[in-house]
Amino acid sequence: QSFHDLGLTANLIKNIEKLGYQKPFPIQEQAIPAILSGKDVMGIAKTGSGKTASFVLPILEKLQKSTSVRNRNISALILVPTRELAIQIQNVFVDFNQQLSRSIKTMAVYGGISINPQMKGMIGVEVLIATPGRLIDLIEHNALSLEEVSIFAVDEADKMFQMGFDEEMNKIIALLPKKRQNLLFSATLNDKVQEMKSRLVIEPIIIEI
Ligand code: AMP
Repeated sequence: QSFHDLGLTANLIKNIEKLGYQKPFPIQEQAIPAILSGKDVMGIAKTGSGKTASFVLPILEKLQKSTSVRNRNISALILVPTRELAIQIQNVFVDFNQQLSRSIKTMAVYGGISINPQMKGMIGVEVLIATPGRLIDLIEHNALSLEEVSIFAVDEADKMFQMGFDEEMNKIIALLPKKRQNLLFSATLNDKVQEMKSRLVIEPIIIEI
């Protein structure tokens, strides 16, 4: 298969070619059409599998077709366990965010640095990549609203539990609108991830790499 067969528009494929990706990795072959279909997706894949592009590309594809927001309501939320992963995912969004039908503002927020610039930077953000604690802080400061999130992703869910983010995740999920698409990625499928899967994703397409 080639990237042309997955349902992505030409401008995104151009960005993929610019990065030198020759063909999709297996996780991308499966996850990109699944996410574009609008269904919930559970992906069991490790770092190095190409999992980041497997959700970044279809999220950009979907958002470039929607109308833009210029307020504090984000459209896509990606929850991650660490600052490093947040930055890594943000960089992949930037790589693919060239020459879309309209430009989409993405931002990574995490703890350990001052909250003020993050609060100020939030206007017009459509895709937010966040660690749980800082996200809750920002919400409590009214820096953003989750009311219009249409795509919610958790990356490295197993690590989220390892780091003890159970309560924060529950709190965040409770603030999301009922009608949304859920994406759940994890390197392993342990009991906690299994429990989250049964709660979060509805009739998911399951991809195991
Ligand atoms: P990830 O598992 O998302 O951390 O990606 C692992 C590495 O594979 C990253 O350095 C990506 O830039 C690279 N990569 C992802 N998809 C492809 C692809 N289809 N062809 C070549 N490299 C890729």
